Amino acid sequence: MDYRKEFPIFKNRDSHYLDTAATSQKPKRVLDKIMEYYEKYNGNPGRGSHTLSMEASNLMANARKTVQKFINAKYDKEVIFTKNTTESINLIAYSYGIEFINENDEIILGVSNHHANIVPWQFVAEKKNAKIKFVYLTENGQFDIEDFKSKLSDKTKLVAVSAVVNVTGVIQPIKEIIEITRNRNKNALVLVDAAQSMLHFRHDVQDFDADFLVFSGHKLFTPMGIGVMYGKKELLEKMPPFLYGGDMIEFVTEQKSTFAQLPNKFEGGTQNVEGAVTLEEAINFIEEISYEKINEIENSLTKNALEKLKKLDFVETYFTKDVEHTGIIAFNVKNVHSHDVAFILDSYDVAVRSGHHCAQPLMNYLGIPSCCRASFSIYNNEEDIDKLIEGLLKVKEVFG
Ligand code: PLP
Repeated sequence: MDYRKEFPIFKNRDSHYLDTAATSQKPKRVLDKIMEYYEKYNGNPGRGSHTLSMEASNLMANARKTVQKFINAKYDKEVIFTKNTTESINLIAYSYGIEFINENDEIILGVSNHHANIVPWQFVAEKKNAKIKFVYLTENGQFDIEDFKSKLSDKTKLVAVSAVVNVTGVIQPIKEIIEITRNRNKNALVLVDAAQSMLHFRHDVQDFDADFLVFSGHKLFTPMGIGVMYGKKELLEKMPPFLYGGDMIEFVTEQKSTFAQLPNKFEGGTQNVEGAVTLEEAINFIEEISYEKINEIENSLTKNALEKLKKLDFVETYFTKDVEHTGIIAFNVKNVHSHDVAFILDSYDVAVRSGHHCAQPLMNYLGIPSCCRASFSIYNNEEDIDKLIEGLLKVKEVFG
């Protein structure tokens, strides 16, 4: 099946879009849900007894159940809708972090974490006088388990890692990280940043026993503006709210308020119903295609692209050998800045990301200022790879 046809943008633009890791394109059936929602259902959920408001509430509830099933959460109220991964992590930092992380406690982060999973913890560490420890990488770009074991201690309060590295696509040993944490320190929590992994493999939160799991809809064939924060019920129940205001309360008097039960406690203000409905449709789309098929397409494209890139001796790739990774290739053209490479590729309608990828600690660790990233999805094809190669030959010609 030609999945490219499902994505209207490719009828309108001649893009060789290799930037799915930044944001995915959206299939028509998901986009249609936006119109359907506003043309048939629009009302403010949880804000009225009239039919349209109640229908909007039901749509949110159904979408929540779909996400619950998708990640195999035990309860639907463990699924909290947010704006994106960044907001989900900030929710955890402001709520769990500020309330429960204290002086001399330690937070363990991966050096290849996205800034969204570093900066909120720096904020908490500074406010609470806690300490951040980084885990570095093995030779093939994976989270170094031995280094992790040496840093994990009784002082560890939180381990926050990406399931897939956004720059390199390297898959991290999440199950092992959680198991090791559990065996060493029963009080340490594990936050899994699934922003880059959700489109690539199934996340069964009960199976790998994550405390928190976060992701963004827009990297998952959904429009921008909806994300998910999953947390274990017993944790969410003891955490204070993050956003205060309408809909997240039980009673309000002039001087004091009590707060709603989950999930409302963490969903202050008018919610993104359109986002929830489209996320549900995108999940159905993924389930119908299946992760097996998505991976088959991505792996074959990545393998072919790597074979062609290998023949270009002026191109350097990072962590593409002897390690499991998703459809992402990080690369540089030797002695050419990544922005210059991306600029020339763009003139061939090839869209790659360039720069530090919101991962400056990783760039420092690798000793490079920046790199390019090509990321593949189900709508890409061999022509996209050939254009990438053609563009790179032009880069070589221009820069010598
Ligand atoms: N975490 C990872 C691993 C990411 O790749 C990204 C985005 O690229 C984020 C977090 C932040 O996602 P968002 O910008 O949707 O909040």
